[in-house]
Amino acid sequence: MTDDRLPQGVSVFERGWLSSNNVLMLGSASTALIDSGYSTHARQTLDLVDAGLGQRSLDFLLNTHLHSDHCGGNAALQATYPNLQTLIPPWQAHFVSSWNPVALTYAPTGQLCPQFRFSGLLLPGGEIQLANRAWQIHTAAGHDPHSLILFEPQSRTLISADALWESGFGVIFPELDGTNAFDEVAATLDMIEQLAPRTVIPGHGAVFGYRPEVLASARQRLDAFVSNPSRHAQHAAKVLLKFKLLEQQQLRFTNFVEWSRNTSYFEQIRRTFFASTPLEIWIEQLTNELVRSGAARRNGELVSNA
Ligand SMILES: [Zn+2]
Repeated sequence: MTDDRLPQGVSVFERGWLSSNNVLMLGSASTALIDSGYSTHARQTLDLVDAGLGQRSLDFLLNTHLHSDHCGGNAALQATYPNLQTLIPPWQAHFVSSWNPVALTYAPTGQLCPQFRFSGLLLPGGEIQLANRAWQIHTAAGHDPHSLILFEPQSRTLISADALWESGFGVIFPELDGTNAFDEVAATLDMIEQLAPRTVIPGHGAVFGYRPEVLASARQRLDAFVSNPSRHAQHAAKVLLKFKLLEQQQLRFTNFVEWSRNTSYFEQIRRTFFASTPLEIWIEQLTNELVRSGAARRNGELVSNA
């Protein structure tokens, strides 16, 4: 919520991993929300926004990128605030207009995202007025080739989405279909270092004070993935399984396998990185690893979130 490291009028609703954080911006001329969480948490998003706005209405909704955990509440917010203007990054706008859940990755990741509309674009290289300050819009490819981050140079506040967390960064999705994006992650980390933020509002996890060690450990993590891409692929598959567990809380192992079979990213990752392991065996291994790390529990046929 309000945090004295943040500029006046800026508050952060720290959510979990299923929903991204939301940043509420109260300016004298307008109000805005950055990112809207996952669809199954939309009710909570609406309540948080309503409480944060007081008597005011929500004028703008911005998405740093179009992953389901960042824009799953868009449709509910648009229904609640009929004059809401939604601004999105430019690259996939045509897929939003024609609503293409495959191109927008909701279908291949097996995630939900109700259809929403947009009214304008956030153009990299430009600026946007939020909470009475001018925020720079920067491209931040890597985790998603179509992601933006926002930076306010006076207070040196960075809204980093999934490009930088206090511990690491989001899965590097393009790598999963064989597109090289490790270099893009490195370039984005360099760009963040150049910006020299003081405070970072990440897409997930708590607001943190920027310090060089955060970038150093992100680079270390990246190097480990570069030297062993299948380690990244294995990590990504576990993230996708954990995300489904967060959404469902509990499901039968056979349904877990069935869901993976119908979620094309799994077959793609398996074919590219673990071709000699049959899907069911691989999902079993991944589930065991989630259980070992304390991220899941298994009781016979039942797999539950932990
Ligand atoms: Zn993301």
